[in-house]
Amino acid sequence: LSERLGGILDKLTRRGALTEADVDTALREVRRALLEADVALDVVREFVEGVRKEAVGVAVIKSVTPGQLVVKIVHDQLVRTLGQEESGGVDLNAVPPVAIMMVGLQGSGKTTTTAKIAKRLTERLKKRVLMASLDVRRPAAMEQLAVLGRDVEVDTLPIVAGQQPVQIAKRAMEAARLGNYDVVLLDTAGRITLDEELMQEAADVRSAANPHEVLLVADALTGQDAVNLARSFNERVGITGIVLTRVDGDGRGGAALSMRAVTGKPIKLLGVGERMDALEDFSPGRLADRILGMGDIVALVEKAAQTIDAEKAARAAEKMRKGQFDLQDMRDQLDQMSRMGGMSGLMGMLPGMAKIKNQISQANLDEKVLKRQVAIIDSMTPKERRNPDLLKASRKRRIAAGSGSKPEDINRLLKMHRGMADMMKMMGGAKRGPLAGLASA
Ligand code: GDP
Ligand code: MG
Repeated sequence: LSERLGGILDKLTRRGALTEADVDTALREVRRALLEADVALDVVREFVEGVRKEAVGVAVIKSVTPGQLVVKIVHDQLVRTLGQEESGGVDLNAVPPVAIMMVGLQGSGKTTTTAKIAKRLTERLKKRVLMASLDVRRPAAMEQLAVLGRDVEVDTLPIVAGQQPVQIAKRAMEAARLGNYDVVLLDTAGRITLDEELMQEAADVRSAANPHEVLLVADALTGQDAVNLARSFNERVGITGIVLTRVDGDGRGGAALSMRAVTGKPIKLLGVGERMDALEDFSPGRLADRILGMGDIVALVEKAAQTIDAEKAARAAEKMRKGQFDLQDMRDQLDQMSRMGGMSGLMGMLPGMAKIKNQISQANLDEKVLKRQVAIIDSMTPKERRNPDLLKASRKRRIAAGSGSKPEDINRLLKMHRGMADMMKMMGGAKRGPLAGLASA
């Protein structure tokens, strides 16, 4: 697939900005990849639309095709959608005994995951854990949990015949209070399909046990149904997180994106095998790679971007030393800054930039402002960028019109450039320009 995509767009390698045609061509492939990964159709549509808006106009970088660049933008957006950081697993931040309830369809991996979580909490966090099976549907279900409990050396609630799920949940909470357990894991019954009875039962258990977490357990192979599944459980029972199981199988896990998109709830853990230690913290980067299936392209673009940043930084540093910091250099720096998320975090990384930092906070240089500044410089001719002294009133008016800004904005930008250029002359003796540190950061 990645070869197909690379092939289509190889001929288009060039400088400039991504056009709508570039983006559309690449997104057709991306859409297919997401559908192949079992992401629900509506979710694909919405996601692709969001990326389209973001990608048009992004500067094309050297040694990367527009198609490859779009894939990288898609990947980054996928990571953002899936959740920025590693979740760290289940949340136990409540008064003990903390109840955690597992919900999902039959065979999704609830019982297995319950035991895996119990093992992890006992071994890693030294918690006292009690597991209880509320599955009164399948005769062997309670015994299955008891067997797993012996295996991972975690207590299970004694089985009492004839009790209903809500009664068992209450008994489990009571036993946990009396026995000073830290955590109670409630393993509920599933059904083959979503049905009203299942939802009602889960909702009743939730009211009775008041769990701190309600984890929806879903198979990575869940296809287009993932949206319905997640929406129903979230609306009827209320979930706090998602566990994706069978990530060790062939499924690319597009269900995770669908479920995340419709519920907004975090993906917390991944089941990666039948063994009791086959449980991993969720990592958005890895799951994004898997869903998109274009990890090689993403790596390629990242590498190219790093190389270019390093080259530009070296060139800028050289010019600074010679006192030739022109508007083009400033543009590259502003662009780099905006790509790195604006000024606030960035300034801390630059040694000796306190003075510029002041100017920048005066100019209120957040990401949006940075992008506008770049647009202004993009509206200048190369000659003007090299020699800002050419910029008299009429040229300023032309540039303002071209970049959708006011002549004052251009004056402010020129003032900032002078400030930076002066500063850099002063720092000229330094071996490392301010950006040299950035490129390696
Ligand atoms: P439940 O009906 O939701 O309680 O599902 P179970 O926990 O009983 O799991 C059904 C089957 O899926 C069992 O054979 C498990 O061993 C298997 N299973 C559960 N999680 C995983 C996983 O992450 N990977 C693999 N390969 N198998 C799993
Ligand atoms: Mg079960």
